[in-house]
Amino acid sequence: MPIESYNPYTGRVLRRFRPFAWSKVERILAQSHRAAAQWRLTSFAERAGLMRRAAELLRERAEELARLMALEMGKPVTDGRAEAQKCALCCEHYAEHAAQFLADEEVKTEAQRSFISHEPLGVVLAVMPWNFPFWQVVRFAAPALMAGNVGLLKHASNVPQCALALEKIFHDAGFPPATFRALLVGTEVVGKLIEDDRVRAVTLTGSEPAGAQVAATAGAQIKKTVLELGGSDAFIVLADADLELAAKTAAQARMINAGQSCIAAKRFIVEKPVMREFINQMKTHLLALRTGDPLLDSTQYGPLARPDLADELTEQVNDSVKQGAKVELFGGQSAPGTALFRPMILSNVKPGQRAYAEELFGPVALVLEAKDADDAIRLANDSRFGLGAAIWTKDARRGEELARRIEAGAVFVNALVKSSPEMPFGGVKKSGYGRELSYLGIREFVNQKSVWVA
Ligand code: NAP
Repeated sequence: MPIESYNPYTGRVLRRFRPFAWSKVERILAQSHRAAAQWRLTSFAERAGLMRRAAELLRERAEELARLMALEMGKPVTDGRAEAQKCALCCEHYAEHAAQFLADEEVKTEAQRSFISHEPLGVVLAVMPWNFPFWQVVRFAAPALMAGNVGLLKHASNVPQCALALEKIFHDAGFPPATFRALLVGTEVVGKLIEDDRVRAVTLTGSEPAGAQVAATAGAQIKKTVLELGGSDAFIVLADADLELAAKTAAQARMINAGQSCIAAKRFIVEKPVMREFINQMKTHLLALRTGDPLLDSTQYGPLARPDLADELTEQVNDSVKQGAKVELFGGQSAPGTALFRPMILSNVKPGQRAYAEELFGPVALVLEAKDADDAIRLANDSRFGLGAAIWTKDARRGEELARRIEAGAVFVNALVKSSPEMPFGGVKKSGYGRELSYLGIREFVNQKSVWVA
């Protein structure tokens, strides 16, 4: 199967790449393994210099990267530029803080001296999705490289040019080439790589089935994994919330990346007295959004990344409507096999419907009615996923208390759920395990070694 770069807006194939033969993958792996032995000996200062240069290049090339994302997966250029800037921030964050995050920790024991040191593991394989083709990779690569590890990237098959552009940034920044390599390979190679002793750990951001398969293979090899998987984030609106701001933010939160974000708000759980007004206001905000060519600055949301993703979303919606869901805002695909999907709102979403149980990876908002705050928490937790959540209430203290009762890796009170380099990011339940970002992220792929000096 060729690896294809395909423009979902025009429906044209941009480029085809021949997947790397195993002999080539094996050669690169051998180089990475050798590089890991050298790279671990470099100082934090040396790594930080290169990482800062990578940040500069991400900023200098923001326009080019935004264009690539627009072409390969339909992200509007304004969002693409912001993604490149955010990647630069992440590189700078770890350039600045890695030495402190991984400093030796003295521990008082009966020994003369005892401490925990944090040492690199070696080659880490990263299996990544297309939805934030730079950000997802950088939030793995910046801490991994700063920790002294070496990265091998298997990016999603529809964003090969983004994968190569990021590899070039690290190489142009001065990182030894074998410390970060993009492998243009299909999923069948992933298992083989995990089974190779030279690969020491794996991180995957993507769907639940992919995560389960990668974790099973890694488990059989006794290898550490971090899994960042799907989500069906709750966005709770209590009756005392600032409804205007909540509805405006709700539309924004559902439409992040045309709805294709793991932490996009997906289930809007609204207290009964304000539900109708919330739907009306959200509808107005969604209808005001402009779609169009992702290469234009005026475009606010683009097509989905591939037509088959839009077809699948249509099926989920149709099945749910057949099972009793009510369409509050009509949108969706204009024809099967096309990637554009206009925003929709569904209400009367109940257990037994696909929309209730599954992740909807596109611009479909589900509105669920809650009797009171306790009922809202119950509904929020009645999900296989546990990635992010938001609670809207004018009583911030109550918001904080309720936040503690939600089964999710992050809860935001009166704000849009987002990732930032300072705060840990990850999920519970079927949303995965392990954390990225913050000091916790950089400690996932290190040997936390106890050193005891008698
Ligand atoms: P996906 O199909 O799981 O693909 C993600 C990556 O995994 C791609 O590189 C893909 O390669 C690879 N892959 C797929 N099946 C595999 C297998 N059996 N073995 C090894 N590798 C495999 O996910 P997607 O549909 O592209 O992305 C959407 C999903 O990712 C959603 O569920 C979303 O919520 C989740 N996501 C989670 C986070 C988070 O941080 N928690 C962030 C973004 C997205 P190919 O492209 O070659 O198939």
